[in-house]
Amino acid sequence: MSDYRIDTKCVQAGYTPTNGQPRQIPIVQSTTFKYDTSEDMGKLFDLEAEGYFYTRLQNPTNDYVAAKIADLEKGTAGMLTSSGQAANFFAFFNICECGGHIVSSASIYGGTFNLISVTMKKMGIDVTFVSPDCTMEELNAAFRENTKAVFGETIANPALTVLDIEKFAAAAHQHGVPLIVDNTFPTPVNCRPIEWGADIVTHSTTKYMDGHGVAVGGAIVDAGQFDWMAQKEKFPGLTTPDESYHGIVYAEKFGKEGAFITKCTSQLMRDFGCIQSPQHAFYLNLGLESLHVRMPKHVENGQAVAEFLEKHPKVKSVSYSGLPSSPYYETAKKYMPNGGCGVVSFELDGGRKAAEQFMGRLRLAAIETHVADARTCCLNPATSTHRQMSDEQLAAAGIPAGLIRISCGLEAKEDLIADLQQALG
Ligand SMILES: *Cc1c(COP(=O)(O)O)cnc(C)c1O
Repeated sequence: MSDYRIDTKCVQAGYTPTNGQPRQIPIVQSTTFKYDTSEDMGKLFDLEAEGYFYTRLQNPTNDYVAAKIADLEKGTAGMLTSSGQAANFFAFFNICECGGHIVSSASIYGGTFNLISVTMKKMGIDVTFVSPDCTMEELNAAFRENTKAVFGETIANPALTVLDIEKFAAAAHQHGVPLIVDNTFPTPVNCRPIEWGADIVTHSTTKYMDGHGVAVGGAIVDAGQFDWMAQKEKFPGLTTPDESYHGIVYAEKFGKEGAFITKCTSQLMRDFGCIQSPQHAFYLNLGLESLHVRMPKHVENGQAVAEFLEKHPKVKSVSYSGLPSSPYYETAKKYMPNGGCGVVSFELDGGRKAAEQFMGRLRLAAIETHVADARTCCLNPATSTHRQMSDEQLAAAGIPAGLIRISCGLEAKEDLIADLQQALG
């Protein structure tokens, strides 16, 4: 469907029923698949034929939805994972093993930060964090001989910094490694990192793609542009024989377009099994069918709330890249001309106490750790996710005690603003 507009792809890409087939994506609720001969099944195991044998690796429902997401992102191949965490882990581990190194923006989701800096460190993988606002010199200085990938988030959760994708892609390619971008917050409706040089795109589909707070999930998309064979030494997993598949060389057999996702499915999904259930993939697709309708409304509400908060005397500062006062305003306009997302963060005068009082008065906005839901939700890290930290520790981490993150849902903006108005008192 690559010639259609994004709205059309949201509704129809990924699944094209033939005569008499179900109009909606069927949920293939089966762990296994039946074959007439062992030879037929053997071909699947040898990656000589395409097909399904066990849902721990692949399932048709998932593949329809993954194909839609790949099309939305303008990639050549995609896969679903059980969560956004699994998607990012797989994207890294598919090309970066023990002894490898990653260059990452420091402004990323807390779960991903832990994954890279604690858990993957235990696997023998090192990381160098750089500011998303670093200069090209600082970025170049972060690379090592054993660097395998560069990582960043288009709009970071929760800091809301905006990644200069072209700059990070240029640095990655100069050093012969791919750029992996987590595009969870803008979704492909508002930004397609592949158009700016990203090689691999990941998602927590739990957020806007699902959009209704229904199912945890993740996705990985390959742009199909990175020439693994040109970096043969750096990526032996893709460029040398896989003995667990009779000596297949992924980059040779499946080319630039298919090597990354095929290897990720046939090795990592086989061995770790972090697959999304077909039922969840079905829910995810329902969310995708209206993503292009919902995202502009999330942006409209986010913009209205940010503008309201910026004028309010009790609000110390507001972070939202749609505000001309934001240091990311120009970068956001370049990569996301139609706006980014509905998440706004702001700091109240009066620190922890003021935040607690404000949160207690909210009527419409719910207190949740979630974001990117149809229902507006609010979080004060100091009294929830980060409550074990002192005010001094919070300040050092760049999270003031009075900081509040609001994820604007799909309600009427007038009602959201009225709720904030009364809660601010
Ligand atoms: C939530 C989130 C994740 C983790 O996704 P889960 O689906 O919760 O595992 C990763 N990256 C970003 C940007 C997120 O917001």
